[in-house]
Amino acid sequence: MDEKKVREAIYCIKANIGEAICEECVNYYKCDHTKMDDMMRTAIEALEKQLPKKPEMRTTYNDFDGRLIYYKGFCPSCGGVVGSYRNESCHHCTQMLDWSE
Ligand SMILES: [Zn+2]
Repeated sequence: MDEKKVREAIYCIKANIGEAICEECVNYYKCDHTKMDDMMRTAIEALEKQLPKKPEMRTTYNDFDGRLIYYKGFCPSCGGVVGSYRNESCHHCTQMLDWSE
């Protein structure tokens, strides 16, 4: 996902929390309009996980010749143990991770 677009979306959604923009929604007459802020916060939370964050307490693991094998650390969003050998995102909460220095 394009990082710039994600940042713009987060900014825009935050700016609209508490604003009445329900009128065009197909569920306008069925909805009690109390859920929107909550859903927007959920959307922001999901979008923020698309922006890579650095793992906390990154540890480097090398083989016997001193070559880097992988990194390990803790997810900055959920605190779960994450490792660079698995993938680019936290497998607990989907937070994108940045393993660079
Ligand atoms: Zn996580």
